[in-house]
Amino acid sequence: MGEGEAIGLDVGGTKINAFRVARDGEILDRRKAATRADDEEATLAQMIELARQMVTDDVLAIGIGAAGMVDAADGSLRFAPNLAWRELPIASRMRDAIGLPCQVDNDASMAAYGEYRFGAGRGYRHMLLVAVGTGIGGGIVSDGRLFRGAYGFAAEIGHIIVEPGGPKCGCGNLGCWEQVAGGRAIDRLGRERARAYPDSLLARLASGDPESVTGQLVTEAATRGDDVAIGVLAEAGRRLGEGIAGLVNIIDPQIVVVGGGAVVAGDLLLEPARAAFVDAVEGEEHRPRVPIVAARLGNDAGAVGAATLALEELGRMRA
Ligand SMILES: [Zn+2]
Repeated sequence: MGEGEAIGLDVGGTKINAFRVARDGEILDRRKAATRADDEEATLAQMIELARQMVTDDVLAIGIGAAGMVDAADGSLRFAPNLAWRELPIASRMRDAIGLPCQVDNDASMAAYGEYRFGAGRGYRHMLLVAVGTGIGGGIVSDGRLFRGAYGFAAEIGHIIVEPGGPKCGCGNLGCWEQVAGGRAIDRLGRERARAYPDSLLARLASGDPESVTGQLVTEAATRGDDVAIGVLAEAGRRLGEGIAGLVNIIDPQIVVVGGGAVVAGDLLLEPARAAFVDAVEGEEHRPRVPIVAARLGNDAGAVGAATLALEELGRMRA
């Protein structure tokens, strides 16, 4: 197998990250475009246009991570809980347009693969990625391979009901994990606490308007020592750690990598998560320690992972 390069696209509700990536993970070209969560055809056309602009003679494959349930059989995006996209034949349309093999998986799965090969999961064989953004995405690497399940829908970890009757989720259920431990939970708790504690730094940073509190503001106030904001991150972190314990009971990884936008809060979120994990995981004192660490590749993980996986799948098909 020669060196070769691949194009990786990470497609979310607001933007596309498009990279040309070498086999060793080096990013050779990077572009970005805004997407429209309400217009899947326009988004698909943008993805094809970006790939067309970036393709070179050395590019052997295209990998795409898309924010939703991706059918492993044909690379179609079937359902996106937080977007309007449904039944979108991404792989076939990209192949027809560019004439290269195209691998499509869930965006968090692609980010997991990126972290596994070149980030915080490097050197491990069994890894769980928990991507805490607006929602919670997941990716599982099992014995060095991306775990997809029977149909490609594995690791949709944000949609486990942990609080029956709780906050409404984009998937239609009430009380999914991502609603009590994800970015929306931090926003919601932040607003509640700012209302209850109008003298807190958090409320003052929101200029006295609790409805304008965001996760970013919570993190800023917490970083500056505000106990109210620290409490918000501690609660979300605790729910995060409890959920991770359940997943570790099932998957038995060597390491848990926490990625997504919420990791900017760092240990203010991760320390409470680690403490809750230790309390909740089965037989904690009888199992090897499972580190819960922050992701290293940041927003690059998805596109790097997509390109790398596409290249490696190609190698496997030819082997
Ligand atoms: Zn849900």
